[in-house]
Amino acid sequence: MTDVEHQKWWGWGVEGIAFHHEDKPAFAGFVLDKVGIDLTQPGGEPPTFDEIDVPASRLGDDLGAQLRAAVGDHQVSTDDMLRVVHTYGKGMRDLVRVRAGDLPRVPDAVVYPANEDEVRAVVDAVVAADAVLIPFGGGSNISGSLTPQPHEERTVISLDLGRMNRVLEIDESSGLARIQAGGLGPDIEEQLTTRGWTMGHQPDSFKHSTLGGWIATRSSGMQSDKYGDIADITRGMRVVLPGKVVELRPLPSTSTGPSVREMIIGSEGRLGVVTEAWVNVHRVPENRDVIAYLFPNWAAGLAAMAEISTSDAAPTITRVSDANETTFSLATRKASKGISGKVGEGLFEVLRRRGWDLEKVCLSYIGYEGGTAKIRAEKSVVGKIIGKHGGIRLGRGPGSLYDQKKFDTPYIRDFLLDRGAIGDVSETAAPWSKLGQVYTTTVRAARAKFAELGVPGFIMCHLSHSYHSGACLYFTFAFPPNADDDFLGQYDAVKTVIQQSFIDAGGTLSHHHGVGTDHAPWLEQDISEAGTDLMVGLLRAADPGRNLNPGTLI
Ligand code: FAD
Repeated sequence: MTDVEHQKWWGWGVEGIAFHHEDKPAFAGFVLDKVGIDLTQPGGEPPTFDEIDVPASRLGDDLGAQLRAAVGDHQVSTDDMLRVVHTYGKGMRDLVRVRAGDLPRVPDAVVYPANEDEVRAVVDAVVAADAVLIPFGGGSNISGSLTPQPHEERTVISLDLGRMNRVLEIDESSGLARIQAGGLGPDIEEQLTTRGWTMGHQPDSFKHSTLGGWIATRSSGMQSDKYGDIADITRGMRVVLPGKVVELRPLPSTSTGPSVREMIIGSEGRLGVVTEAWVNVHRVPENRDVIAYLFPNWAAGLAAMAEISTSDAAPTITRVSDANETTFSLATRKASKGISGKVGEGLFEVLRRRGWDLEKVCLSYIGYEGGTAKIRAEKSVVGKIIGKHGGIRLGRGPGSLYDQKKFDTPYIRDFLLDRGAIGDVSETAAPWSKLGQVYTTTVRAARAKFAELGVPGFIMCHLSHSYHSGACLYFTFAFPPNADDDFLGQYDAVKTVIQQSFIDAGGTLSHHHGVGTDHAPWLEQDISEAGTDLMVGLLRAADPGRNLNPGTLI
């Protein structure tokens, strides 16, 4: 049996880690106030696997024998638990459905190749048998991009790249590393940092997502202001298609027609299997600092981020939360440490006396990396811009809290589901000139939908990545669906108005979560009908038999 480790079949992360509120004194009151859930009442338990009825594998003898010949007997599994783990990503629809045992189509087998030759043999066998192949990285996507089509009649094979997790080579003079696509964030960073290098790509899902998945979904990490999105970081690739391999050498730039590299990035498994990539790597920085600031309101925070993006400072992180998310952040701080020293009643009293409206205060984090002189100069530039927009510096202590919490917050969605509530995210990017409008329209649309459903709902937002011409806005929403209507129907209703607001107000359907099946209804509005035609043509030419992850993207 394979030794690849997987996330929980029913939720985020690994067994034994969960979100707890008992050490966060303000959290229960916050949740009661905002979404009406009483945390003094015990939550429900996630289902046990025995309660789930898993459809039997339909793997035929011939294909099964070919797959075993390709990767070895122990690396082909028809185990029920493994097949369920490979059925869904970790989106809200996925979590609700898997918890309910809603499994219309489950992969018939999970296959774990050790190298590119084995990937080629598997791809060729699957296509020759007219079966379906779905590449699987960490299974962390939240766009519904790896779930088999519900009525798929053909055999479905999930190709798990988990054994291909090595840094193969570092070209030190070019700052490039060749890395296998199945490496999880921690695998990759550990192998790089022991040699003094870092890729710097840190999505919130870092612990449970892979290089191949990042490339296939156009991922972006929290330090993208410095390191770039995965589309910037990825320079070369090898991609297995039926009967052939696309080889893209790592080039700093090239003028060889429409970019094949860009076609593969974001292709969600529909243009083949990425087996390895050349990525930009950087020397591990001498110093790293995250400093927290406060703004009197959201408009001031947005204006400051826009000005920082065109200034001489080049921070690694530019992040500002709206007033709602600031309240949430304060409610999730622990009793004994954290922001309490500074963002406590004392500070708020001072701000009140200065005329700040405490309902509108916005928390911001700016990250710096590099030599001492560089960081000092950047902090000075940023400090002046923040001051100009009425903000104040809180300091390093609250900033380090951001680093501590960043990988734990994802567990909160399961905590809410255990209590019958939905908590999810939607993110977009828009030009600076449209950002305010995207924000206002989206918040208004979500609140109107909460009112229509008759539920106490909460929506909050932060700006998470800045660019020359605009930024990413990341919304989180939560509500307990009413008992009269179907749970996922109410989720869809809220998610739909949020996504439509993005498009209507000038944003994109997603900045870094990809299209999948969940965002596909907005693709044509985003890239135009003619743009969609181009994409359909590309997918048909590469995969005429629709054997590679059909149904996602378009
Ligand atoms: P999977 O979920 O396994 O697969 C995603 C898609 O990629 C599928 O279509 C699959 O077929 C395809 N694929 C996977 N590997 C390959 C390959 N080798 N070749 C070809 N196709 C392949 N995303 C961000 O960008 N930034 C974030 O900060 C972030 N935070 C998140 C936080 C949480 C709590 C969750 C649940 C998700 C978050 N995500 C984030 C989304 C998710 O982690 C990304 O979409 C990630 O890139 C998916 O990688 P994965 O390895 O898990 O891919």
